Amino acid sequence: MFQITESCISRLDGFFAQSRRVSIISHTRPDGDALGSTTALLMFLRRYYSAEAKVVMPNAISQNIAFIKPSSTEDAYLDFSQEIQAAGEWLKSSDLILCLDFNSFARTDGLQNLLEDSKSSKVLIDHHLHPDETAFDLVFSTPDISSASELLYHILMAMPQIAGDATKLPAESAYALMSGMTTDTNNFANSVFPSTLRMASELLAAGVDRDDIVSHINNEYRENRVRLMGYLLDRKLTITAEGVAYIILTRKEQEQFDLQEGDLEGVVNIPLQVEKVKISLLLREDTEYYRVSIRSKVGYSANSMATRYFHGGGHEQASGGRLFFPQDIATPEGAEAYIVNILKDYFDEDR
Ligand code: 5GP
Ligand code: MN
Repeated sequence: MFQITESCISRLDGFFAQSRRVSIISHTRPDGDALGSTTALLMFLRRYYSAEAKVVMPNAISQNIAFIKPSSTEDAYLDFSQEIQAAGEWLKSSDLILCLDFNSFARTDGLQNLLEDSKSSKVLIDHHLHPDETAFDLVFSTPDISSASELLYHILMAMPQIAGDATKLPAESAYALMSGMTTDTNNFANSVFPSTLRMASELLAAGVDRDDIVSHINNEYRENRVRLMGYLLDRKLTITAEGVAYIILTRKEQEQFDLQEGDLEGVVNIPLQVEKVKISLLLREDTEYYRVSIRSKVGYSANSMATRYFHGGGHEQASGGRLFFPQDIATPEGAEAYIVNILKDYFDEDR
């Protein structure tokens, strides 16, 4: 397992203790792990250090994960896409910037330039492949872990205030960490390590209500999502001879179903239920590109597909990227032909 050294913990403690203002950042369109890890760190800093800390997200936190945010902390979250001035000023005046659940500033949309120009100390806590280590003063990074939330859990457990006793974590941190790990593992379906189960066990023993978390994750979707799933699986799913499933969702369809951020969470996993499907792609049309989500079964690399054909990356079995028009395809209608074409190339060399 990834080693968290005493010297790294002592440097982290030093950064926390010396800072007056802290920005906790995560990636664009934050998911459960992004919100879980940032929230857990926010509540830990509030409890054990005197620095003023806020979470600064590149854009809005979607309704389906909002349950992770503790009540009475509204003022601690800034959305850069909506509050450019306030979020930008907070970031610029921070002497410490903590970056969670992303591997490069390019994953932070509008925050990218501010982060690149910033001279403040920066710490990375992440579990993606190929982190941009040179951009940070201190790096905690390994792909051999379930989630950024799990990595942060082990880091916090090693901090002097907690000293291996999970009951000393603020209850909101413990709840947020369990939530982030649960969403990133798809409720223990993938990327589960011995350390992941140890974390879950210790957090359960410390009193985290996992039933409450799982109920929030599974049973609070909008009706549109469930009806859309029927439509997508019945009418829009194609499975190729190579065992690649793809769904291409137009802007018009997204409007028809009144889709909001989060409504498509997990949909890309469903075609993998079919035995012959090895890789699943979901393309969502945006104004200048398709957002691409990729999932694969073990033995097939979602990451290499995202990197090679969609300007993206992520994890071996779960990655994402973009397909731009007119750079990659002349018009949105060209997406299907593009996929068919890349599959020839991908299955020629990359098995
Ligand atoms: P999702 O399909 O859930 O949006 O993303 C799955 C994984 O791929 C996440 O770990 C995410 O960080 C990564 N990912 C998604 N979109 C992009 C992208 O545009 N660029 C890169 N490098 N990674 C992405
Ligand atoms: Mn993650």
